Amino acid sequence: MRRFLIAGNWKMNTLRQSGVALAGELAAVAAHEEAGVEVLVCPPYPYLLPVGERIGGSAVQLGAQDVYFESPGAFTGEIAVEMLKDCGCRYVLIGHSERRAILGETDAVINRKVRAALAGGLTVVLCVGELLAERQSGQTEEVLDRQMEGGFSGISEAEAASIVVAYEPVWAIGTGRTASPEQAQEVHAVLRAQLKAATSHSDRISILYGGSMNAANAAQLLAQPDIDGGLIGGAALKAPDFLAIMAAGSVSA
Ligand code: PEP
Repeated sequence: MRRFLIAGNWKMNTLRQSGVALAGELAAVAAHEEAGVEVLVCPPYPYLLPVGERIGGSAVQLGAQDVYFESPGAFTGEIAVEMLKDCGCRYVLIGHSERRAILGETDAVINRKVRAALAGGLTVVLCVGELLAERQSGQTEEVLDRQMEGGFSGISEAEAASIVVAYEPVWAIGTGRTASPEQAQEVHAVLRAQLKAATSHSDRISILYGGSMNAANAAQLLAQPDIDGGLIGGAALKAPDFLAIMAAGSVSA
């Protein structure tokens, strides 16, 4: 059974007060488990604790935007799996395109992070997606294949069930240019087939769409048969927009 997940990636946005206020608005609506929909927020590291406190007791889950693969020790500036769990995180995003492109994360690094997070009991949201030039040159499937193989390499069958895949075409992230529902569904079906070939637990692995999802386009995207939720950036920072996406999700779940 695949979970239906609406996840907000706050990136390097909000301050403590605005982040806690935003979390409060979501928690007030998602007081209980929404009909079949899980809701997740991923605030910046310094706000994990106050946001976690604010959503405590509601159905909103807490996640981090990244993690390091080593155990606690001499790794200045990094954050360990144990620390995220200590702050109440159940989820962690790994391999976001901004970390791949801006911070230079390779598939090998991403794989180490995925393995460490799973070993520590976190649910991983593994982000994959092609650049515009890769799509235009017909390389989408090949790129996704490489990123999926990189992410899943060395993962046990049991651990695979704790991964959520987020398909985020890089050309659609933060650009206001979203994939059409048909374009997104086409790629999700490819990813679904890749998962089927890779693990017997593919029917438990959700695939989220991310890339300029907003209150206006969410319903159509989320209604696609292979889209199991959304990873939302910009629209996750405005409570009414994110709440509208959550509502669209509960219709499709
Ligand atoms: C993201 O960064 O994961 C994302 C999907 O951003 P946006 O919704 O702003 O395109």
